[in-house]
Amino acid sequence: MLVVKFGGTSVGKPERMKKIAHLVMSMPGKKIVVLSALSGTTNALVRIGENLLAQQHTAANNEISELEKHYLQFIKELYSSESYKAVGEEIVSRYFSLFRLLAAGKFDDRGYRELLAQGELISTELFYHHLQEIKTPVRLLPALHFMSIDENNEPELEKISERLKPILETMNNVDILVTQGYICRNHRNEIDNLKRGGSDYTASLIGAAIRAEEIQIWTDIDGMHNNDPRIVKKTMPIAELTFDEASELAYFGAKILHPSTIVPAQKYHVPVILKNTMDEKALGTIISDKGSRGQFKAVAAKDGITAIKIKSSRMLLAYGFLRRVFEVFERYKTPIDMISTSEVAVSVTIDENKNLAKILEELNLFGTIEVDDNQSIICIVGNMLSEKEGVLKEVFQSLANIPIRMVSYGGSPNNISILVSTSQKDKALNLLNEGLFNL
Ligand code: ASP
Ligand code: MG
Repeated sequence: MLVVKFGGTSVGKPERMKKIAHLVMSMPGKKIVVLSALSGTTNALVRIGENLLAQQHTAANNEISELEKHYLQFIKELYSSESYKAVGEEIVSRYFSLFRLLAAGKFDDRGYRELLAQGELISTELFYHHLQEIKTPVRLLPALHFMSIDENNEPELEKISERLKPILETMNNVDILVTQGYICRNHRNEIDNLKRGGSDYTASLIGAAIRAEEIQIWTDIDGMHNNDPRIVKKTMPIAELTFDEASELAYFGAKILHPSTIVPAQKYHVPVILKNTMDEKALGTIISDKGSRGQFKAVAAKDGITAIKIKSSRMLLAYGFLRRVFEVFERYKTPIDMISTSEVAVSVTIDENKNLAKILEELNLFGTIEVDDNQSIICIVGNMLSEKEGVLKEVFQSLANIPIRMVSYGGSPNNISILVSTSQKDKALNLLNEGLFNL
């Protein structure tokens, strides 16, 4: 069984939705198709929900009417026959009645989450009827009947798997099952979601739950790239990544994949393939257990980093010093990203400044503090980089003219992190592109 996920832009126009219908029909064997909401819909629902929470009813109702117009036009172009256009109108009218009902009553966080879930419910229903119209056997697999999160908002993979089994058995006479990305039930059985961009995560959870052959994530770019195309001129798609490399990149803002997506797939060794709906033949990126060792795969950067240096002679030959420093960050629920130490000083970086003033006040008791803001972490990702000779030489040679504030190497075999001032970031990414990838 394949799990095949299409994002908002892949279903955002009637012709695109028709195109992916053909794409799915051309795939051999059984598949579960996971769909996002049509592009722009979740953003519109967020705006409507926020307006309602703020008692801005007129703004919310105007936005609902705008969105309704968009859907009425969409179904006109999606369906060919009068009878299916009527089915489409019935669907749109049913969802928009619900929006108006939710908007008219007491609107709270629970109503908000119910509203957000409608984007995926409507896109899958429209797609399902399109397949019906072109006489392709298909079933709807309702995500709210099996997808769940616990009280810590963590997906319940084992339960999801248990619930899916009997449902899938009853549907084993059709090859195409269509389900909603992003939406789920929480531990109170209320409608909830897996956070923005969560449809990728849905696909990975289903893939892991049913031990699928493959999870395909279809977007509108040809896989993950080796560098940030907004900053460097020439980038290339990465053919193969290990799960660990992909998680490093997802954290470092390679926006193409929801950061948690890798976790369930990795647990059950189900390969994740990133594919491009605009260029079906392109190979895309394969993320799996396999990987080539000692090779640079990609560089990525994360901005908005603050570096804090704590210098203290009390650190010399002492133990327990780092613990006390880390406890300060723990008290203010502030994660530390990079660390580097000398005998009398330690530098750490954080990307969350909310409690910085209080943190500094406490750290001041340990010694002298220096703070550098507007820093960027440049992360160099590859497999077994720490086992390869000359890796650091290549990196530092490329960055010879860039002042480097911190380095972290060997923490993981997949990553070298370097801290530079954000003003140097573009230059650093370009130099690494030339030095490590000859681009
Ligand atoms: N529709 C949701 C969003 O826009 C989930 C997704 O597209 O992955 O965030
Ligand atoms: Mg996405």
